Amino acid sequence: MQATIHYPSTTLKPHRDESLAGGHAWIFSGALQQPPHWVKAGGLLDVKSATGQFVARGYYNPQTDIAIRILTRNQDEMIDAEFLRQRIRRAVALRSVFDPAITNAYRLLHSEGDGLPGLVVDRFGDILVVQIQTAGMEQLRPQLIEALVQETQATGILVRNDSTARRREGLEVEEPVVVSGEVPEQVAIRENGVQFLVDPWHGQKTGFFLDQRDKREALRKYAHGKRVLNCFSYTGGFSVYAALTNPETRVTSVDVSAPAMEVARQHFTLNGLDPAQHEFVTADVFDYLEEAQRNGELFDVVVLDPPAFAKTKDARGQALKAYRRLNTLAMQVLQPGGILLTCSCSGVVGMDDLLGILSQSARHRGVQLLETYTHGVDHPTNLAMPETVYLKAVFCRVAGDL
Ligand code: SAH
Repeated sequence: MQATIHYPSTTLKPHRDESLAGGHAWIFSGALQQPPHWVKAGGLLDVKSATGQFVARGYYNPQTDIAIRILTRNQDEMIDAEFLRQRIRRAVALRSVFDPAITNAYRLLHSEGDGLPGLVVDRFGDILVVQIQTAGMEQLRPQLIEALVQETQATGILVRNDSTARRREGLEVEEPVVVSGEVPEQVAIRENGVQFLVDPWHGQKTGFFLDQRDKREALRKYAHGKRVLNCFSYTGGFSVYAALTNPETRVTSVDVSAPAMEVARQHFTLNGLDPAQHEFVTADVFDYLEEAQRNGELFDVVVLDPPAFAKTKDARGQALKAYRRLNTLAMQVLQPGGILLTCSCSGVVGMDDLLGILSQSARHRGVQLLETYTHGVDHPTNLAMPETVYLKAVFCRVAGDL
């Protein structure tokens, strides 16, 4: 039996425990009767209602608008290695939907969606890439790494705390560091049976955009024998899926990053495709689309997967304009009856916003909404926190005559 630990506590203002009771996992500083200056940044604490009842246990940061992130609502649950192991086991169980012979790369832990706020862990075959985003999770780092080693059979764990977003939490931006086993420069993965190479050390984010797996799969049915334009292609995820559908399919990949474009070519070869049959363009997508439109070029399928145009609420207005411009340009290079897959990974741009942008871009073009997606099963969302859905994706058909 483990000894019960007593955590320091803080008290909410009256009625401020209602959203927590509904399952939400954040407490904003304004909801606290007084800032708990007796708890250090990242420290664990109990949250009590105005009437003194235990509500939840979490960690605190005086520097951020979200003062407390909840880890458990069970007063008997200690925040220790066993707690972390249980959360990891629960997350591993969800990912058993993936047959490792077909898909061996997925997000293993998705922050609040898996009950571990401030933590992202991506699995690439036998390798794990960890991102610690909050001061509270940073405090749990030693137990966390130990729990990951015990529960995942990973042969190597890389901690990539190189995001500048860590500064908002008062954390250092670090160089990538191996904390267990060995982590090679390049890891070969399978996603829906398609082969990719991931650079866990230097690739964008954790090395590969796992949140597009289900949209890449969904794209296949539209791509057979078609002319496909993949904008913001990175290392060619959507491109390879499309090209594999049919020897007649022709794919143009466009990204501003020359190294990403080089890896995209390698991905074609790795999957038995001849890169010479396809086009790889290192360019700004806006410039590329404008020129394509001027030249009267037309595609059957266009994919738009831009980086987040808005990272904060203040940037939202400008971002909406950029999305509108981008989607308008994309529709102008689509054949009548063509398919547009458009995505937004800006947290502050909702699905309604994206649909609004599409309909403004469409004008008289007669656009049919076909399918909508978020981030897929390995990026679960706490249902009480719909604002944490960051990725929205829409397939539509530009029919031309509605
Ligand atoms: N679709 C990709 C992920 C895209 S991430 C996949 O499935 O893996 C966004 C990409 O946009 C990055 O590779 C980045 O290099 C690229 N990018 C950002 N701004 C750009 C611009 N203005 N023009 C072209 N590419 C851009």
